[in-house]
Amino acid sequence: MSGGPLDLVIVGAGFSGLAMAIRADRAGFSRFRILEKADRIGGTWRDNTYPGAASDVPAHLYSLSFAPRSDWSRLFPRQGEIQAYLRDLVAEHGLADRLRLGTTVLGAAYDEAACLWRVETDRGVVEARILVGAVGALHAPARPALPGLDGFAGPCFHTAAWDHGCDLAGKRVGVIGTGASAVQIVPEIAGRTAHLTLFQRSPPWILPRHDRPYGALAKALLGIAPLRRLYRASLFWRRELTALFGFTRVSRLTAGAEALARAHLKRAIPDPDLRRRLTPSYRLGCKRVLLSDDYYPALARPDVSLVTEAIRAVTPHGIVTADGAEHALDVLILATGFSPSGSFDRLALTGRDGRSLAQAWRDGADAFHGLAMSGFPNLFLLLGPNTGLGHNSVLAMVEAQVAHVLEALRWLKSNPGRALEVRAEAQRRFRDAVDARLADSIWARGGCGSWYLDGKGRNRTLWPGTATAYRRAARRLRRRDYALVGPSQRSEAAATGP
Ligand code: NAP
Repeated sequence: MSGGPLDLVIVGAGFSGLAMAIRADRAGFSRFRILEKADRIGGTWRDNTYPGAASDVPAHLYSLSFAPRSDWSRLFPRQGEIQAYLRDLVAEHGLADRLRLGTTVLGAAYDEAACLWRVETDRGVVEARILVGAVGALHAPARPALPGLDGFAGPCFHTAAWDHGCDLAGKRVGVIGTGASAVQIVPEIAGRTAHLTLFQRSPPWILPRHDRPYGALAKALLGIAPLRRLYRASLFWRRELTALFGFTRVSRLTAGAEALARAHLKRAIPDPDLRRRLTPSYRLGCKRVLLSDDYYPALARPDVSLVTEAIRAVTPHGIVTADGAEHALDVLILATGFSPSGSFDRLALTGRDGRSLAQAWRDGADAFHGLAMSGFPNLFLLLGPNTGLGHNSVLAMVEAQVAHVLEALRWLKSNPGRALEVRAEAQRRFRDAVDARLADSIWARGGCGSWYLDGKGRNRTLWPGTATAYRRAARRLRRRDYALVGPSQRSEAAATGP
């Protein structure tokens, strides 16, 4: 590539990276690269191929508003269908020529003299004015620190790295964890195994899912653009209302939803003791609320056991729990979730004055609108701190962030050789406002611990309001929040890498 540095480098070819690329391209900023360490695009939907993997948000909402599809097969499509949608995006929007698969970012440093980012990959160096981290919030699998885990003799794998070569038929299978992944996996594999033992630390709240295929008529109607848009808006606003009416706080809505969830449990589990062990002791919404119609029925099967004693150790042939019981296992599945801070850490970013991201985030992950950081000019994170959503499609957040980055690109186009750096004061204001709202939130007051909270018990994961409020605040880049900084000296840097 010649002709000077690129407009932007996007790290990650999952949902958010592809959204960024398509919008940049359409806005005329076509000089970009998408760097992807894997050999295929898709991010979460490439990695999570476990049995039953599916979206928890209806596809007509969990898809890009500017790249709609009318023929989704069902309300909550499975992994393969979403992955195919993402593959189609690459083809339909002609991104393949700017996609670099199998390219791992080793580090990226801001060059103050040249006002650009120098991204070092295992295939060379690439330079761009803007760097976009689109590495996903939930990418790095969390491996539990259980004594003896490494010594387990049979196959042992995380849900995000499912071993499809491992035949579960006739095996004694253990699953650790009862989050969103486990709740989808358990009903799929129960009945295929000789015995399934589920190790639960805390039960999730589960509401009915009501998944259904779209019939021919529904598909035809959804092929009409205004109707499809209306349907999407109805899906969106139904979810927004839950946040508006109190899902982010302990409220009357919390009690109502808990009653629904208890009735759902009672219908499926007649045994009062099993029901008691499946009833959460914290308030609904404190951890992610799950949707399933087949998880509880699977737990009522005679060939499935729920173990609620704490795990003491993993042995080569099973798990020993705190009560001394030994649970013999042939296969162990870790449905233990992800480390939310792990994704951005691995980019090894160095901003102005040689300051690393680790240093900047010493006191916790922190970015203006979850997007931009003082000391890191022209760097934007998609799905950065406090931009996760519990109640609606996270793609609403991504689209607002992408719009913000596009405005940055426009500003920089009219100010060649300069960079945009968010003011420390704007970043602090955002942090204070978010923290104030979080202090009283369901995630702080709901009586649970969760991966939403960092090591110091602070929520650096979720946005504490509606997606609409975030969109309103974040999609426009307000110049007063940013300083336009100049180079100390110009350089003739050119992109030389992949
Ligand atoms: P998760 O929600 O973090 O659940 C991890 C589970 O592992 C929890 O039940 C946790 O117990 C348990 N656990 C962790 N460490 C443990 C240990 N040392 N001993 C015993 N139990 C342990 O992870 P996930 O199910 O993979 O889901 C992660 C996120 O991914 C979700 O919240 C969601 O955002 C996303 N996701 C979405 C979908 C979807 O849309 N359909 C599907 C899958 C995942 P505690 O609850 O006690 O901590």
